[in-house]
Amino acid sequence: LDLNLVPIFEDDDSFGGVLLVLQDVTAIRRLERMRSEFVANVSHELKTPITAVKGFAETLLGGAVDDPETARSFLQIIYDESDRLNRLIGDILELSKIESRRVPLQFSPIELASFVEKTVELMRAEGLQKQIRLSYKADRDVYVEADEDRLRQIIMNLLSNGINYTPEGGSVSIVVEPVGGENYESVRIHISDTGIGIPKKDLPRIFERFYRVDKARSRSSGGTGLGLSIVKHLVELHKGTISVESRVGSGSTFTIELPVLQ
Ligand code: ADP
Repeated sequence: LDLNLVPIFEDDDSFGGVLLVLQDVTAIRRLERMRSEFVANVSHELKTPITAVKGFAETLLGGAVDDPETARSFLQIIYDESDRLNRLIGDILELSKIESRRVPLQFSPIELASFVEKTVELMRAEGLQKQIRLSYKADRDVYVEADEDRLRQIIMNLLSNGINYTPEGGSVSIVVEPVGGENYESVRIHISDTGIGIPKKDLPRIFERFYRVDKARSRSSGGTGLGLSIVKHLVELHKGTISVESRVGSGSTFTIELPVLQ
């Protein structure tokens, strides 16, 4: 609590009393703390690739450049790390835009079955590369009001995670399920994989910025640790919710629930 005393004077300048202002600043303090934690996290995340780029460039300049094979492999690392840096900055900017509500969403009616089908096709190649089977199931004529690009981004991100965190030979599926009988009011989109799963203790935290169950694994697969927090914000901008269920070793299911367009 912040406490402020403000003296009150009457029109004739005589002392009229004291105004006591008590302000609950818990929320403000929490925001401040979150902001400075975010800056610390961002700096740390940016430092890792920059340190690698600098280190490998230095080694090249120090003579390694004369050995073509070494030079090639170091340059590849420099290239990959710059790429990561680029993605990281892109995601940070995206998140900050979304959080400050500077993304104008363009809502239009979207028929989910054909939308899901098209989105799955876009991910087919990524799945094939890892020999992961993609499938979908959706009844026709379920509509939601959504920003098409953003909804695609949400689904692609979850599919991409499913592919990333599933060993070769596994599968990832999308099921669209209207909820609540005849005149359903909402629809659930389940995105399931047969992958490594998420330990119970980590489940409540995976939508936090930069939270990863296994940092090394996320890094090596090119993750920024921001994907799920971006997804969660975007889902909420659509008046929806997102939840997750998972079992280590058998897979995860992310469920988005959105209001349907009647
Ligand atoms: P990342 O860029 O690391 O994938 P995300 O924000 O997309 O970041 O996900 C955060 C963390 O949640 C991941 O690092 C991973 O540990 C875990 N995770 C996300 N999706 C899955 C999944 N389908 N299966 C297992 N773990 C997952």
